[in-house]
Amino acid sequence: MPFNFDAIVIGTGFGGTVAATRLAQKGKKVLMLERGTWWVTPSKLGKAPPSTRDPIPVWAKKQTPQHPVQYWTRPDHRQGLGNFFSAVRSGVNKDGLYQYSMFKQADILTASGVGGGSLIYSNVTVRPEAEVLQGIGLNLADADYQAAYKWMEENRGRLNHIVTKIPLPGRDVTNLTTDDYLYLDRARVLRDAAKLSEGKLGIKLPWKPLDLSLIEYDPHRPDGGDAAKVGTFCQRQGRCILGCLPSARHTFSKTLYTKLLFDPAKGVALSPLAEVREIRQIAGGYEVTYRDHRDDGDKKTVSAPMVFLCAGTLGTTEILLRSRERGGLKLTDKLGTHFSTNGDFGAFVVGTTKPVHSSVGPINTCQVSTKMGGLHIKVEDSAVPEMFAAVTSATLNVLDNFAQREMLKMKMKNAFLGIAMPDLQDFFPKLPDTHDPERNQTEGEMVSNIFFFNVMGQDDASGKFTLKNDRLDLDWDKKIGETPVFQQIETLLKSLAESMGGRYVPFPLWKGLGNKKLVITHPLGGCPIAPTSFDGVVDELGRVFDGSKPKGSTDVLPGLFVVDGSSLPGAVATNPTLTIAAQALKAVNAALP
Ligand SMILES: Cc1cc2nc3c(=O)[nH]c(=O)nc-3n(C[C@H](O)[C@H](O)[C@H](O)COP(=O)(O)OP(=O)(O)OC[C@H]3O[C@@H](n4cnc5c(N)ncnc54)[C@H](O)[C@@H]3O)c2cc1C
Ligand code: SF4
Repeated sequence: MPFNFDAIVIGTGFGGTVAATRLAQKGKKVLMLERGTWWVTPSKLGKAPPSTRDPIPVWAKKQTPQHPVQYWTRPDHRQGLGNFFSAVRSGVNKDGLYQYSMFKQADILTASGVGGGSLIYSNVTVRPEAEVLQGIGLNLADADYQAAYKWMEENRGRLNHIVTKIPLPGRDVTNLTTDDYLYLDRARVLRDAAKLSEGKLGIKLPWKPLDLSLIEYDPHRPDGGDAAKVGTFCQRQGRCILGCLPSARHTFSKTLYTKLLFDPAKGVALSPLAEVREIRQIAGGYEVTYRDHRDDGDKKTVSAPMVFLCAGTLGTTEILLRSRERGGLKLTDKLGTHFSTNGDFGAFVVGTTKPVHSSVGPINTCQVSTKMGGLHIKVEDSAVPEMFAAVTSATLNVLDNFAQREMLKMKMKNAFLGIAMPDLQDFFPKLPDTHDPERNQTEGEMVSNIFFFNVMGQDDASGKFTLKNDRLDLDWDKKIGETPVFQQIETLLKSLAESMGGRYVPFPLWKGLGNKKLVITHPLGGCPIAPTSFDGVVDELGRVFDGSKPKGSTDVLPGLFVVDGSSLPGAVATNPTLTIAAQALKAVNAALP
C-alpha cells in the first residue's frame, strides 16, 4: 500500500518542532497533526509593515480548508478572567488553549495549540544539574546540550536575561551594585531573601538570572539583535503564560510558520484540530487515526513508514495506551510508569515587607538553587498576571486570615495555659482607614506585596498512568504529597517567606481548598527511556521497544519514535524544555543519519 507521507509527527510542541525541522532538512514529506488551533497576538503595534504584521492569519485563511486562528486572552484586568476560562479546553470546547487535566492527587496544566507548550510556557530555557540526570539514567552529554542551544538559537532566537525594569543593553545584569534599584522588585527580593535564609538554614542558596527565550532590546549586538530585526521586545507586561501582546516570545508557531509551513517546497503540511486517537502497525509502517474537528470530528486515517510521537507526557502516553488496547500495538508493560511531578510546587508569601510588584516582568526571571536532604531544588519568582490579581489577592486574604485566626486561637490557648502572653493588639480589629488604600486598587497594587514561588525538585517518578473507560488516569500507590521532596521544599519556602517579612501561604489546593493536592506544569515520563524493555518503553534514541519480544530485549518497532517529555524517565528538577529539546535532537538525528 502506498504511504501518504514519509513521516507523521503527532504534536507541535518542543519534540514535534525539533522533529519537523530535521525531517524537512532531510527532504522528507511530513504531515504534522495537532489537536489545537493557531494562537497569535491581536496587537498591531510594531514597526513591521502592515502586510507582514500578522502573517499567520493571512496565510491561514488561504489554506484549504482554512486554518483556525485565535487571539491571546485579554483584557489585562479582572474582566479578562472570563476570556481566560473560555480558553480552557474541555469535552465540548475542543479549541481551547489550556488543557487542565484533573486526577485524584494532582492536576496537570498543559497547552493545546500549534506550538504546544511554547505558547503558554514562561520561556525558561535551562540545563539541569548533571547529578540529577545521572540519578534518572538520562544519558545527555555536554555535546547534546550544546546542540540544543544551537538549535534554539537558529530556529527561535537568542536567550536573554530579563531581571531589570528596563533593558540595560550591553550590561551584565547578574550583579548590579550601584544600580541595584533597577532590578525588578521580585527578583531583588528573592535574591535578598535567599542571602538571609542561607544563614538561617545553614545551606548555600545561590541566586542567578534565568535564560529566557524571548526578545530583549539590545542595539549593541553586532547584528542589531532580535529586537532590531523583528521590531519588538519584552515590555515587562507579566503575561507570558497568557500570550505575549508585543509578540516578544519565541513560540514554535513562529518557527513552524517561518521555517517550514509558509514555503510548500519544504514538504511539511500541518493539520490543526486533528486529535490523534491511535496508531496501528501495518506492513512497512503505521496507520494513524485521528478525529478531524474541522470536519465535525470525523475519523480519518493517514499512513507513513515513520511516526514521531510528540504529543507530550499526557498525549503520547494516552495514544500509546489506547494503541496497545485497541490497535494491537505490541508495547512493554512499563507503558504509563515513571510519571514524575518534577517536584512542581507553588506557594505564596503574603505581606512582604518590601513591595514585589508581582504583575510586572516576565513570568519567571531568576532562580535560587540548593540541595536539601540530598535532593536538588530550584526556586523561581513568578509573576501574577493582572487578570488574576483580584482573584489571587482575595483568595490569599481569606486563606491568610484563616491561618492567622488559627494562630490567634493557639496564642489564646497558650495564654490560658500560662505558656506565653499574646500581643494585645491581636485582639482588636483593625479600624477602617478613612483614606482606605485598599479601595479602588489597580490590579498591580493588589499583588504588590504578594510573592509567588515556582518550585521544582527531585521526586521519585512513581506515578502511573492507566486507561480507564478510554480516558487517561493517573495515580500513585502512596500519598505523593507526603514524599520527602515536598517536605524539604516547604521548609525552604517557609524560611524564604520569613526572610521576606511575610506569611507563607501554600497553593490553595495544597492547603485551604484541598489536602496536599499538587498542580503540575512540568509533567514528565509515562514512556520512560531505559536500556532494555525490562525497565522502559523506549531506548535512549527514542525508539519504541517491541513488546512482543522477551522482557529485557533491545529489539524495537521499526520507524516508531517517542520524542517528547514522556520519554524522560524522571524529574529533571528544573524547567525541562531544554532537556526535552536535547533528547529530541539526539533521537531524531540518530533516526535520520
Ligand atoms: C504555565 C506553564 C509554564 C511553563 N513554563 C516553562 C518554562 O518556563 N520552561 C520550561 O522548560 N518548561 C515550562 N513549562 C513546561 C513545558 O511547557 C513542557 O515541559 C513542554 O511544553 C513539553 O514539551 P513536549 O514536546 O513534551 O510537549 P508539548 O509542548 O506539550 O507539545 C505537545 C503537543 O501535542 C499536542 N497533542 C496532545 N495530544 C494530542 C493528540 N491526541 N493529537 C494531536 N495533538 C496532540 C498538544 O496540543 C501540543 O501541541 C511550562 C508549562 C506550563 C503549563
Ligand atoms: S513579560 Fe510581557 S512583554 Fe515580556 S515576554 Fe512576557 S508577555 Fe511579553
